[in-house]
Amino acid sequence: RERERRRRIRIHCCTSSGCLASQGLEIQKRLEAAVAEAGLEGEVEVVGVGCIGSCGQGPMVEIAPEGTLYEYVRPEDADAIVAAINGGECSVQRGDPLRPFFTRQFPIVRKNAGKIDPERIEEYIAAGGYRSLYRAINEMTPAEVIDEITRSGLRGRGGAGYPTGLKWSTVAKSRGERKYVVCNGDEGDPGAFMDRSVLESDPHLVLEGMCIAAYAIGADQGYIYVRGEYPFAIQRLQKAINQAKKFGLLGSQIFDSTFDFRVDIRVGAGAFVCGEETALLASIEGRRGQPRPRPPYPAESGLWGKPTLINNVETFANIASIIEHGPDWYASIGTETSRGTKVFALTGKIHNTGLIEVPMGITLREIVHQLGGGGHSGSEVKAVQTGGPSGGCIPASLFDTPVDYESLAQVGSIMGSGGMVVMDNSTNMVELAKFYMEFCKDESCGKCVPCRVGTVQIHRLLEKITAGQGSQADIDQLQELCQLLRNTSLCGLGQSAPNPVMSTLKYFTEEYEHLIER
Ligand code: SF4
Repeated sequence: RERERRRRIRIHCCTSSGCLASQGLEIQKRLEAAVAEAGLEGEVEVVGVGCIGSCGQGPMVEIAPEGTLYEYVRPEDADAIVAAINGGECSVQRGDPLRPFFTRQFPIVRKNAGKIDPERIEEYIAAGGYRSLYRAINEMTPAEVIDEITRSGLRGRGGAGYPTGLKWSTVAKSRGERKYVVCNGDEGDPGAFMDRSVLESDPHLVLEGMCIAAYAIGADQGYIYVRGEYPFAIQRLQKAINQAKKFGLLGSQIFDSTFDFRVDIRVGAGAFVCGEETALLASIEGRRGQPRPRPPYPAESGLWGKPTLINNVETFANIASIIEHGPDWYASIGTETSRGTKVFALTGKIHNTGLIEVPMGITLREIVHQLGGGGHSGSEVKAVQTGGPSGGCIPASLFDTPVDYESLAQVGSIMGSGGMVVMDNSTNMVELAKFYMEFCKDESCGKCVPCRVGTVQIHRLLEKITAGQGSQADIDQLQELCQLLRNTSLCGLGQSAPNPVMSTLKYFTEEYEHLIER
């Protein structure tokens, strides 16, 4: 019976960027050597998996299926961890798999993260992967696929929250001898690493979502645009594409049907503005990544003037589960207007940093205090910034706000793509606003005057105020410039750049006043 128990044992070793940066690969090698030395090869398997989630406690190792978690693992801990499987002593710090950080989550996009080897398509298929693609191609018409996505209520997870089904049906109806599917993986917000983690942990889930979308809208070519700063995600994605081709899941006549679909990777050069869809398309075409006025929208005239569907990584990662479990199941999660779940990168002055996937409608208080465990080292949490440099700072007094598209907008922020940075009482909110404005100033593409000049002027005013040389007139001018940028900038970068300044001016006025009164 003991041999039977051990035969099922897998040692999951996190090999996502965060843990790799702390000797994750060396830990995996030492665990493999320890298993061999203990004579357990064939009974205990060491598996490199994607992100387990609680990155702040990494490198993480999990013994599956029993669920023992080890935190802050070092390569020299390998022998003790393997010995513990045989009942030996092990002093390596254990994590609690039953703490709210894990139990309050609702994994759909992250269902396989930390459980399967993302570099082996066999593990993805064994976990039910590509079943939804099979069902879509063999049992559904393209219109039925779009209908299921529409009824699920899924909205784009890139930040704007546009209804996914409506976008798909617009591209499906657009005329064009060729159509494209594009996956936006140009994640650039400071503090955000959701897309990187999904691509590193489960690249086939994104590919399957893209394939289903291509079948639904009638595309035969797809591109995944990933930022160059994510070399490991690019490497895993390329491996996944090669494996899918080998298994007949990408290429010609998929599942012996008449449906053909190919996917190529395009690597971005690190410009934040290329996350904007028209700039991203220009970059794929080999032109300078700058936004253009809309209409026409990419759904009608996108890549090389052809109808193009653009969704981000997380949106595509939801698709297979919607087809598998049905739109009613998906629509039953979340709120009336924001269905499903959202992945957040929880960072900053918080006890548990890492990746979480929670149902829409959960409050900020639950995220910060239950999943996040409150302030770092017991400090008092003061605010949360959602949506990165495009979002706003929400004070602790509004932490009962539900996390959905409309409620976050009502309090002056946005859902964004999923960055959630927590601030405590040691954070100077004016300095924080200055940091985000400096980011936007540097990342402005310079095409339109309000953003090109306005971000520089706002940053100068913030420098003056934080240096203790500002006046009430400077604060008044800040307000005026922020409105101007919001109303007249060409693209979302300029339109939303004032949000951190405006929200801190609204909720932390006393911090600005304190600086001008010095
Ligand atoms: Fe470029 Fe800024 Fe204008 Fe957008 S708003 S087009 S980033 S200058």
